[in-house]
Amino acid sequence: MAPFVQTVLGPVDPASLGRVLHHEHLTSLVPGPWLSGSRTTSTSDPRDGDQIAQAVTAVSGLKNLGFDTVVDLSPYSVVGRSAWGENVTLLQEISRQSGVHVVAGSSVYLEPYSPSWALDSTLDEMTDRFIRDVTAGIGTTEVRAGILGEQATGLNEITDHEQKCLRASARASRATGTSLITHTTHGTMALEQVAILREEGADLSRVVIGHMDIQPELDYVQRVLDTGVNIAFDTIGKQYWDFVLEPPPTEPAEGEFDKRAYFRADRSRAERLALLASRGYADQLFVSQDLTGAEVYLNTQTHGQFGYNYLAAVFMPMAAEFGLSPTDAERMLRSNPIRLLAQGNAA
Ligand SMILES: [Zn+2]
Repeated sequence: MAPFVQTVLGPVDPASLGRVLHHEHLTSLVPGPWLSGSRTTSTSDPRDGDQIAQAVTAVSGLKNLGFDTVVDLSPYSVVGRSAWGENVTLLQEISRQSGVHVVAGSSVYLEPYSPSWALDSTLDEMTDRFIRDVTAGIGTTEVRAGILGEQATGLNEITDHEQKCLRASARASRATGTSLITHTTHGTMALEQVAILREEGADLSRVVIGHMDIQPELDYVQRVLDTGVNIAFDTIGKQYWDFVLEPPPTEPAEGEFDKRAYFRADRSRAERLALLASRGYADQLFVSQDLTGAEVYLNTQTHGQFGYNYLAAVFMPMAAEFGLSPTDAERMLRSNPIRLLAQGNAA
């Protein structure tokens, strides 16, 4: 079978992908001034709250920066994807109107955010669901997933449900040859994820462990790389965020409440990325922004100002200042994600 990449509009030639944003959420965007900077093609007003118009506007600056592909890794019931996944068809319209390839992921997020059907599913049922997402269509649609993920585990723990879903994703990956991207919470439990995936016989070269740019210990990040998996610096531009482990109650008590906030400077991400590349890991490194609604307001200097253009226009030049070579940068933006998304290779 000739190699292909499964987009929401059908299979395409891997050579047509260009640069790739491999971890995004196109239907969770929010209106705001950040959209105006990249606004060139949309005729509808993105401030009207229309998900399609916002996404089309948001990606409209990408082609000038060499990106022809965005991967939407929204799990069932989270960051814009509905509980049964039927609104994945929005991604088809976003792709048609923008001319950008969109690849849809399929996954289940942290236990507190999981839809009840997933909580009630057995390992075999969950595996069948993910396999059908790849071979027949996500949920009730005929939109096929081109990748599995972001498959999530919690902060310093993996619940039984999360382990079930991770194993199911690994089994579906084996059965279909589709790659798998994970979500770690702050880079914790990455080695445990690898151990589970290895137990399931997953091809570790087809696995990306996500959110490793927020793991505080660089030695730990390197130990994860040494297992043979890929890792992602995929929250670039998200320097500030509120830390919410569970969805807020629908009717909170009035008055003051506690929340946790987090900061990671992009300069330290850039420095680490260049350092890891110089140590020979460039083929295992992936970059993206994980741009969602809330962080736009929390990160006015990055996402809030540049939107999807931030990675290539601001961050990669910053990494170059720390010594990242143009060749290694292009690996992260182009050849690594294309290798991950391509299916049907003879190998
Ligand atoms: Zn994400």
